[in-house]
Amino acid sequence: MYIGGQFTDGASGQMMTRHSPGHGAAVAQWPSGVGEDAQAAIAAAREAFDNGPWPSLSAGARAARLFKVADLIERHAQELGLIECLETGKPITQAIGEIRGAVDVWRFAAGAARVMRGEAYNNLGDRVLAIVLREPIGVVGVITPWNFPFFILAERLPFILAAGCTAVVKPSEATSGSTLKLCALLHAAGIPPGVVNVVTGRGPVVGQPLLDSDRIDMLSVTGSTTTGRKAIEASAGNIKKLGLELGGKNPHIVFADADLDDAADGVAFGMAFNAGQCCVGGSRLVVQRSIAEAFTEKLAQKIRRIRVGDPLDAQTQVGALFDEAHMHKVLGYVQEGVRMGAHVVCGGARTGDHAGYFVQPTLLTNVRPATPLLREEIFGPVLAVVPFDGYEEAIAIANDSAFGLAASIWTKDLSQALRATRQVRAGRVWVNTTLDNGPETPLGGMKQSGLGREAGLSGIEEYTEVKTAHIHLQARTHWIA
Ligand code: NAD
Repeated sequence: MYIGGQFTDGASGQMMTRHSPGHGAAVAQWPSGVGEDAQAAIAAAREAFDNGPWPSLSAGARAARLFKVADLIERHAQELGLIECLETGKPITQAIGEIRGAVDVWRFAAGAARVMRGEAYNNLGDRVLAIVLREPIGVVGVITPWNFPFFILAERLPFILAAGCTAVVKPSEATSGSTLKLCALLHAAGIPPGVVNVVTGRGPVVGQPLLDSDRIDMLSVTGSTTTGRKAIEASAGNIKKLGLELGGKNPHIVFADADLDDAADGVAFGMAFNAGQCCVGGSRLVVQRSIAEAFTEKLAQKIRRIRVGDPLDAQTQVGALFDEAHMHKVLGYVQEGVRMGAHVVCGGARTGDHAGYFVQPTLLTNVRPATPLLREEIFGPVLAVVPFDGYEEAIAIANDSAFGLAASIWTKDLSQALRATRQVRAGRVWVNTTLDNGPETPLGGMKQSGLGREAGLSGIEEYTEVKTAHIHLQARTHWIA
């Protein structure tokens, strides 16, 4: 772990081992932290915020250090990518791409440090000047999931640092390697001790103390909606601010006038990228009935051609699922759907050699509305087809979910695309594309998909408090005698 600028084995001295989900081999070890470690990390972050130099540095000075971190990440992209590939089971080319994407986000956040500013009002009368200050919120607890460990951290940590805050990071117990490697880079870039602290271990043991702590000012939690609910319950203690990035059940809406080749390509990519373990990945195909059969067949042909296999092979497009239990859970959704009458068009089974947890990308039709595979987040390469007749029905089906994270709309009709963009209840909408991202644009969910937005210029504002000061320029009579 990394606490107060020092690497430590933690109070218990116990270690946990990660086995590669693609190969079954032991690939990493890190400390199995306990509550005492979490408290030490919170104390270090508190001290660095309350008495350290970081919050009072100029934005320019903070930005210069963050740019250095970005350069170091870029230099170590191959090594960090290999860590991500082995710990998550994702293909090596995508893992390295994810690290390069993270470099871009670190650079954007470094620049954003210098854009953050207050406001002044001189329109409240001659005698008053009002100023609105943006101040760092304080110590932020950051809890991250296993699916994009390094990229998701990049959507939070550099913004937290740019705002002048300090942090305690709790990465997923299954994929902590790249976050620990980052600590060495932060150290080399001159981020002062205590500004970033990392505790490793199980959520209920080292994560829960962050949720419960009265010494943490804000929580940024990315994970399942269940973990998000725990953060909401625990934050009642000191009324912490919450940023929550949670689950999704994202629709692809394909209208009959869409370019069907492009749409099939995009829908196949959106459902299978990262083996479907992607919060914004498409898991429902809402397709106009007049083209449903032909489009499903076209899509199935694309899906059957997806190369599932060894994450270390540069030709692989889809790697392993994250662990054995998760693989069985994903296959369980498919089996339950079939029991309830669904038809498997392609996929539906485990594949590859049995050292790894590979699942064939799966397309299902004839899925009943109440089937869990249409209602719950599966987090695997599984797509369920739901036909619609008219526009209104398409929007109603797309919005018939407890989640509201992302949606893709496929049509050549511009006004239909814009109308649907406005009517779909999701924090991110794509038109004739899917999974595009850029640090300029905020990401976050509606409904049970979360609270707040990450990245974009608002990404830095999330980690600030607004303070207003009214300053009287001349003596004022407060009370009429
Ligand atoms: P998870 O909720 O199981 O775990 C996320 C993190 O929370 C882990 O670090 C875990 O150790 C920690 N945690 C678990 N219990 C805790 C507790 N009691 N106290 C504090 N921390 C605790 O999620 P996961 O399986 O790692 O990731 C997959 C989920 O993340 C999916 O639901 C996915 O949609 C979501 N996700 C959302 C986004 C987004 O931007 N909306 C991005 C990526 C992933």
